[in-house]
Amino acid sequence: MPPQLAKQKHARYFQRLLQIMPNSYAAEFDCSRLAVAFFAISGLDVLNCLNDLGEETKLDAINWIYRLQVTGAGPRSGFQPSTTIPKDTPKYQCGHLAMTYVGLVTLLILGDDLSRVDKKSIIEGMRACQNPDGSFTAVIIGCESDMRFLYCACCISIILNDWSGIDKTKAIDYILRSISYDGAMGQGPGLESHGGSTFCAVASLFLMNELHNVLTNDQLNRLKRWCLMRQDSGFHGRPGKSSDTCYSFWVGATLQMLDVNKLSDPEENRAFLLETQDNVVGGFGKFVDCLPDPLHTYLGLCGLSLLGEAGLCIMNAALNTSDRAYKHLLKIHEFLQSYKVFATTEYHIKRTELKYKGKLMFFVSYYGSYLYSSHRFSVPRTVILKTSINENIMILKYVINCSVLMKTLVEHVSKAHTGYKRKPNSII
Ligand SMILES: [Zn+2]
Repeated sequence: MPPQLAKQKHARYFQRLLQIMPNSYAAEFDCSRLAVAFFAISGLDVLNCLNDLGEETKLDAINWIYRLQVTGAGPRSGFQPSTTIPKDTPKYQCGHLAMTYVGLVTLLILGDDLSRVDKKSIIEGMRACQNPDGSFTAVIIGCESDMRFLYCACCISIILNDWSGIDKTKAIDYILRSISYDGAMGQGPGLESHGGSTFCAVASLFLMNELHNVLTNDQLNRLKRWCLMRQDSGFHGRPGKSSDTCYSFWVGATLQMLDVNKLSDPEENRAFLLETQDNVVGGFGKFVDCLPDPLHTYLGLCGLSLLGEAGLCIMNAALNTSDRAYKHLLKIHEFLQSYKVFATTEYHIKRTELKYKGKLMFFVSYYGSYLYSSHRFSVPRTVILKTSINENIMILKYVINCSVLMKTLVEHVSKAHTGYKRKPNSII
């Protein structure tokens, strides 16, 4: 009988990772603790087991991720990998582009609305990380610069729905200059083609909606051929290397974005991936008979999801997250978009953290078709508006400095939702 996906064991592997990170990981992975959390949380999501975490754990995880956010620090703004460096030592706080990307995407997976994200700071920090050659460095205080962080910058831009932190012309130029003689992309110009950097380059162009604009048909065909040639049983990252679990995602996702995934051999790929499972403790190794690790466990499952494995979530290949999380992001954008008119015309709205203590002058909740207030709105003053749709999924908070706005906003929402009803304590 062919091996089956040990779904429950993988779910337990991720749960253990979140609850009792092994000593051997704790020090080594402190500089990427948030990435390990992403592998575990996104992995549970792909397994359709995210609710196993429970609401309290999800909330704890969301609050922990927000604690990693460095704001108002100019070019050092972003998300840090761990809380090892305490908040009271701002001099040593510094965002890291990969951590900002995984932090934001993990918040989305957990159902957060990103309302506590300081978008202005994040964009400012990201902008400072772009080099004159178009690439990005991971941290402003000095680090490697290559295709990986350009990809992270594109993911951050799509999540925040703001591309002002990237000079796209320079970024595209960097990607085009990184195309090697064999048609795929390296980490930078003149470097060897690699499955990981090719994914980063193709996904960046895909997220910028430029994939088919900047690559010629000949370039696309050479790229497709290179990716397809990376399959033996599973996929490898460079010619002459052995199949490695993670490339079933890196190369598999690239093939999907290039719309030629059907030309690969799914049975061979699946058989290889299932061979790399650890059937005792769960998780996937890099190779067959290799100890499992968080990255290969997550990407092995993502690779299986791309193959349509039963019981797994559908993936969004470019963002490397579940399609469900991506749809949640679109919902946030759509909701923000409907209020954009208030933010950009005569009313001044500033996003802020929600403060309940005594100063909450006005509180409006929008549950499906209802609006109600906790206090009547009387005179113009700073108010906090809280809106929520789909019960507790999405919450947006604004500080508003105009009473007229409230009336206009209420009318706007009422008009948009025909099922509107007056609630006993409502101002409308
Ligand atoms: Zn690998």
